[in-house]
Amino acid sequence: MNSLTLKQFQDQVSELLLRHRSLLDVLSKFQQSNAAVNRSVIKSITECGCIEVNAAKQAYYPDMTMEEARVTLGTHVEGHLCENCMEAVSSELGTNLFYMSALGNILDVNLEKVVENESKKCSTLGFFNMS
Ligand SMILES: [Zn+2]
Repeated sequence: MNSLTLKQFQDQVSELLLRHRSLLDVLSKFQQSNAAVNRSVIKSITECGCIEVNAAKQAYYPDMTMEEARVTLGTHVEGHLCENCMEAVSSELGTNLFYMSALGNILDVNLEKVVENESKKCSTLGFFNMS
């Protein structure tokens, strides 16, 4: 399983897609699964309490170096997901990835290419332009 490629996963999703072949069905499930990811993260904060959010305006300026940014800019997260929350968040992300793959299959979008292009974009644009 550790050498599973995105392409293999996308093919696997394609075989399971018989019940969700409609673009409209897949779009709505994709959106729903995204909301479920957010919900699982929020429950880690408000119900479990293993992570907390402590947020304020980011002290950002455009010509910051990478190192300055790493030290100054925060994630606003304190703590780490406990085992249960890690499992819940991971599982919801997996479902979201399933429907993303399904969407890719229906529209002939190759996710491996998507990742490849996004990675190229990351190395070309650099840290501050990824928003
Ligand atoms: Zn937790």
